[in-house]
Amino acid sequence: MPKLGNATAKAELGRATWKLLHTMASRYPEKPKADERAAVKQWIFLLSRLYPCGECANHFQRMLKDHPPQTSSRAALSNWACSIHNIVNIRLGKAEFDCSTLENVYQCGCAEDPSEVEGGLNSD
Ligand code: FAD
Repeated sequence: MPKLGNATAKAELGRATWKLLHTMASRYPEKPKADERAAVKQWIFLLSRLYPCGECANHFQRMLKDHPPQTSSRAALSNWACSIHNIVNIRLGKAEFDCSTLENVYQCGCAEDPSEVEGGLNSD
């Protein structure tokens, strides 16, 4: 198992984390309740604290100060996640991503309502 000092492991961790963040944002409620807004905000701050790559975590925490999570709607959260990812892209010398294409890219393959999942919630 490679250590996280290894650039390949760091990149894999980054790709997996971005995928989770963008996919979560794509399924975040259109009209979130106050507790849903608080939960996602807390999750993002905890992620920035616990992120296993120290250099990335430091940068992430600084970004959160300048660009606090936008949690008022699915579109707001998705666009916020896209823009912070773009800040990292620019920092690493990568191309900016076109945030208008987000909806087509991040689909989790799961039903909006858990009861719509094949076999229902209690299937083995
Ligand atoms: P990634 O940047 O991982 O992106 C994966 C895929 O997401 C892309 O192929 C593209 O399809 C899509 N994508 C790209 N941009 C966007 C966007 N704006 N919105 C939506 N989708 C997009 N690495 C470092 O070396 N130094 C750091 O300081 C650092 N900080 C990081 C901070 C955080 C919070 C995270 C999650 C990762 C960080 N990383 C850092 C890792 C880095 O961002 C990349 O994940 C890694 O370099 C692999 O890059 P990649 O080119 O494979 O694509």
